[in-house]
Amino acid sequence: MPEATIIKQRQDMVDSHQTFSLGKEGFATAFSDRFDRLLPFLERRSAARQADLGLDDGDGLGDLSLVARTFSKEIVPLWRWKPGSNIAGGDRGAEIRLGQQYLTPALRTDVDGEGDVGFDVAVPCPHDDECTGRAWVPAYNVTCLFRALNGDLDDDEGIVCTVHGPNHADDQDDEDTPGIEERDLEAVHG
Ligand SMILES: [Zn+2]
Repeated sequence: MPEATIIKQRQDMVDSHQTFSLGKEGFATAFSDRFDRLLPFLERRSAARQADLGLDDGDGLGDLSLVARTFSKEIVPLWRWKPGSNIAGGDRGAEIRLGQQYLTPALRTDVDGEGDVGFDVAVPCPHDDECTGRAWVPAYNVTCLFRALNGDLDDDEGIVCTVHGPNHADDQDDEDTPGIEERDLEAVHG
């Protein structure tokens, strides 16, 4: 066997032994890390929160912190305010877009006239496909956004159309809940 080959083989043996030792060392380090992992974890989460709130002298999320709190932080990069648009009747309108699909949320600053802050999201008008108004349904969290886009909220009783008013308020011949409507009528007419 050529001498160079023997030297190479020896070197490989030494290298692999060292690798193995480092591996053991790494394992020992990982093992000791287990004892104090919660504190650094919380420290990172705390720093991220302070940054989001602008408490670290940065800009923070600003008016997007409510978006992040309501819909999760993953929504924030998709969120665009629509300044100057009048889609939300004077409230701030926005758009959540990914690819060709989008939703139109609005920030309500006086929910139910109580001064509460919350979001609505635009859905198709349940009364009229050709409706010239805009129908809104409350969006409390990211699940509401999913259901709104998915069509699950298309006949939600929380929908209010700017032209037709609340869903199910006056359409007593609604096919979806004939039993309830009939019982109500019977109660009224004795
Ligand atoms: Zn309508």
